[in-house]
Amino acid sequence: MTETKTHYRACNVCEATCGLEIKYQGNKILSIKGDKKDPLSKGHICPKGVALQDVYYDKERLKQPQKKTKEGWQTISWKQAFDEVTDNIKRIQKQHGKDAVATYSGNPGVHNMGAMLFMPLFSRTLKSKNRYSATSVDQLADQLAAQLLYGHQLLVPVPDLDRTDCVLIIGANPVVSNGSMMTAPKVAQRLKDIQKRGGQVINVDPRFTETSKLADQHIYINPAADVYLLLAMLNEVFKNNRETLGHVKDFTHGLADIKELVKDYTPKSVAKITGIKAEVTQQLALDFCTAKTACCYTRFGASTQKFGTFTQWLGNIFNMVTGNFDKAGGVMFTKPAFDIIEPARKQKNRKTFGKYHSRLKGLPSFAGELPVSVLADEIMTQGEGQIKMLIINSGNPVLSTPNGNKMDKALASLDYMVSIDFYINESSRHANIILPPTSSLERDHYNVAFHTLAIQNTVKYSETLFAPSKEQRSDREIFVELWARMQPKGIKSQIKTWLTKRHINKKGERGIIDDGLKHGPYKNLGLEKVIQSKHGIDLGALQPCMPERLLNKDQQIHLLPEEIKADIARVKSVFKQNHQDSAYPMQLIGRRDPRTNNSWMHNSYRLIKGKARCLALINTADAEIHKLQNADEITVTSATATITIPVKITDDIKQGIISIPHGWGHTFADMKISTAQANAGVNINILMDENQIDEISGNAVLSGVPVRIEKV
Ligand code: SF4
Repeated sequence: MTETKTHYRACNVCEATCGLEIKYQGNKILSIKGDKKDPLSKGHICPKGVALQDVYYDKERLKQPQKKTKEGWQTISWKQAFDEVTDNIKRIQKQHGKDAVATYSGNPGVHNMGAMLFMPLFSRTLKSKNRYSATSVDQLADQLAAQLLYGHQLLVPVPDLDRTDCVLIIGANPVVSNGSMMTAPKVAQRLKDIQKRGGQVINVDPRFTETSKLADQHIYINPAADVYLLLAMLNEVFKNNRETLGHVKDFTHGLADIKELVKDYTPKSVAKITGIKAEVTQQLALDFCTAKTACCYTRFGASTQKFGTFTQWLGNIFNMVTGNFDKAGGVMFTKPAFDIIEPARKQKNRKTFGKYHSRLKGLPSFAGELPVSVLADEIMTQGEGQIKMLIINSGNPVLSTPNGNKMDKALASLDYMVSIDFYINESSRHANIILPPTSSLERDHYNVAFHTLAIQNTVKYSETLFAPSKEQRSDREIFVELWARMQPKGIKSQIKTWLTKRHINKKGERGIIDDGLKHGPYKNLGLEKVIQSKHGIDLGALQPCMPERLLNKDQQIHLLPEEIKADIARVKSVFKQNHQDSAYPMQLIGRRDPRTNNSWMHNSYRLIKGKARCLALINTADAEIHKLQNADEITVTSATATITIPVKITDDIKQGIISIPHGWGHTFADMKISTAQANAGVNINILMDENQIDEISGNAVLSGVPVRIEKV
C-alpha cells in the first residue's frame, strides 16, 4: 500500500497565508487541515484552503496552451504559443508603438511567487506605459498614503493586534478576510484575546458585519463618510489637548497644519454626513486616546470610495497624533526576512507617483501602473497610443473592474489578447491564446508580499507537493520564455548568461529567495534552514524601527503632503453640499463572502454548493417601503447598468444602504465551467461607474455607489 505522507505549506489564496497540513498518498489528497505548528496561523484554516485540492483535481483546469479558432479552442504546443504571442507583440508594437501593448495583473498574481518575481522582468521589456492591475480596484489608496508619508508604497503600518488594548476597525471585516494589508490569520481569536486582556474592539461600518458580532461596540456610519468621522475625532483630540507624537516627534513635521485642517470638523458638524451622533464620536475619540495602546485599522470600504486616499492618510494621521505609531500595541512596520522594501533605498529616482499620466483622463501612474478604471476607454478610444493588445495575468477584469459590461466589449474589440490563466473565464474567453500555468500545489511558494504586511515576523517556504506533468509550464517558465523571445538577437545570449549567474534559470525562484534571505535582516537565515523548519520560523513580534526604516529622502515624516493638501477643497465642498441624488436615493456597498475570494475559486463545488449566497441585503424599513419579502427579486439600477437579484431582509444594515457581494456573475455561455452553474450570482461591478474615482489616486469608487431599487 502507498505510504501516507504529510506535506506542509502556506495557503496562497488570500493574504492570511495560513499554514496547511496536507495528508496524501501518491497523488491522492486524504485531508487538508490547518497546521497547528505554523507560527503565524496556529492551525487556522478556512474552506478556501481545503478547496485547493479541487483546483488541483479539476478536469476543466487547462494544462496546455489553447488557441481560439473558428472551430473553437484548440490545444497547441508551447513553442507555437510562445511564437504566436511574441510575434504579435512585435507586430503590434512596430505598427502602433510600445504603448499599444498593455498588461493587466489580477489579484492571484500577488499570491504567486513566480509571477511576483518574473512578471516584472517581462513587463519591463515591453516598455509600455499601459500597465494595470487589481491594485486600483482595491488597496491603491493605502499604498499611496504609505508612499506619501513614509517613502515607500509597502511601508504600510500594521496594527499590533496581539498586544493592543484597543482596535478601531473602519470599513473592514477582518473576521471574514483574516486581514487585508494586515496579514492576521485566526483574527477572530486575536480579537477575542484583546477583550480577554481587558481591551476593546470597536467596529465602524454601514453594515453589522461578522466582525461587528464579535466587537464590544458597533457604530453605523454612512458609506464614504469615514473621512469626516476621522476629521472629527482628530478635532476632538486637539480640542482636549490630547495630541502626542510620542518618540517620533523629533523627525515629524506639520502637527500645527493638521490642527488647522480639522478645526471646522467638530463631532456635531459632521453628525449629519456621517450619521453618527456627536456624543458617540466624542466618546470614540476619548476611548481611543485613553487606551494604554490603540490602533486604528482602515481598509477596503475606506479605500474604495471617493476620498480613499484622504481617508487612508487620515487613518495614519490618527494613529500618529494619538501617539500610537511605531509603538508596541499601536501600529508598526514589519521586518521581513526577504525584504522587498529596502532595495528601493538605493534607487536614485524614487518618484513612484505621477511619473506619467494616462492618455485619456490624465490619471496618474503609481509604481509603474495606471488606474484600471481607464483601461476600457484606452482600448476603445482611437488615436495615438490606443491599446491594441492586452496580456492578462491571472485576472478577470470583466468581473472585477468597474463597468464590467464595458470591459467585456473592450476586450472583444482588441486586435489581439493573451491570457495567462488555467481557466476559461469571462475575460480569458476573449483571448486569442491562453497560456495556462501550473496550479498552487504543483509549484514552490514563498509569500513575497505578505510577510511584509503581517502582524508577526515569520518566514516560511513551501515546496512543490505534486510534480507537474511534462506538458505544463510554471509562471516563471512562461514569463522568462516570453521575456527571452523579446530580446534583440545580438544580446540575447549575454543576458541569458547574466540571468544564469543570478541563479534565475539555474535554480529558479529558489536562488532569488535564498539570496534575499541571506542578505536580509536576519543572520544565519538561508533557504535550506527555512525549508527544514517545515512549519515556518517565528522571527518575533514587530519592533519600533523609526526613523531608520523611513525611505523618505530626508528621513523625516511630513504629516501634510502636497497631494493631500490639494484635495482639501474637495473634502470641504462635499461636506458643504452633502446632498442626495433623488434619481438614485440608495447607496450600494460590497461585501466579501467567506467561501469566495473575489472571482477566484468558483470552480470548486464545495465553495459554491448550498443556498444561494449572492443576495442583496436590505434593511427592514426599506423592504417595507418596497413591499418586499425575503427572496423577492429586485432590480438595482445605477448610472451604468441594472441587475436583478433576490433580497435578504435584515436589520444588520443601515436604512438606505444595500449590500451585494462581489466576485459573482459567472456567465457560462462560452465557458467550460460547469460546477457552479446553479449558483452563478450577479456581477455587482457592472453597476460601478468607471468615471467615479478617488481623485488623488484614480482608484475606482466601489463603496457608496448611488443606486435605486425596484421590486421585480
Ligand atoms: S484564510 Fe486565506 S490563507 Fe487561510 S486558508 Fe483561508 S484562503 Fe487560505
